[in-house]
Amino acid sequence: MALERTFSIIKPDATERNLTGKINAVFEDAGLRIVAQKRIQLTQKEAEAFYGVHKERPFFGELVSFMISGPVVVQVLEGENAVALHRDVMGATNPAEAAEGTVRKLFAKSIGENSVHGSDSLENAEKEIKFFFAEKDILP
Ligand code: ADP
Ligand code: MG
Repeated sequence: MALERTFSIIKPDATERNLTGKINAVFEDAGLRIVAQKRIQLTQKEAEAFYGVHKERPFFGELVSFMISGPVVVQVLEGENAVALHRDVMGATNPAEAAEGTVRKLFAKSIGENSVHGSDSLENAEKEIKFFFAEKDILP
């Protein structure tokens, strides 16, 4: 097992419904530690750059407009095997396929408005953390 950091976003559908604390409780109960966190409004340019890997997908425009439709909470989470653990606790992209007890099963509205983002690899976690946080603002 390795101590890892991953990057997380609580998406606008969740901040709008005042679910930040409930989602953070699911993460903490799973053994993840919130070592940096801020509530921000993404710009269109930031959302397009952050989701650049999806720019050819048919849902790209919808995804960017959703992600700038309200505030998001960006986070760094730390724990043993944090990347995979966080993906497990988020649940499947489509809430209809998400396992019981996962954030998306509990809270997501649809495959698009699915409450949370999580890095899919350690390499992407490092890039995504750097996109939003300086090392001095991450406090284990
Ligand atoms: P994940 O967030 O589980 O890693 P993806 O990386 O495949 O999923 O997609 C990124 C985000 O794009 C999803 O979390 C979701 O918000 C949105 N998305 C994915 N598939 C669709 C779809 N078929 N229709 C609308 N939005 C989608
Ligand atoms: Mg993804």
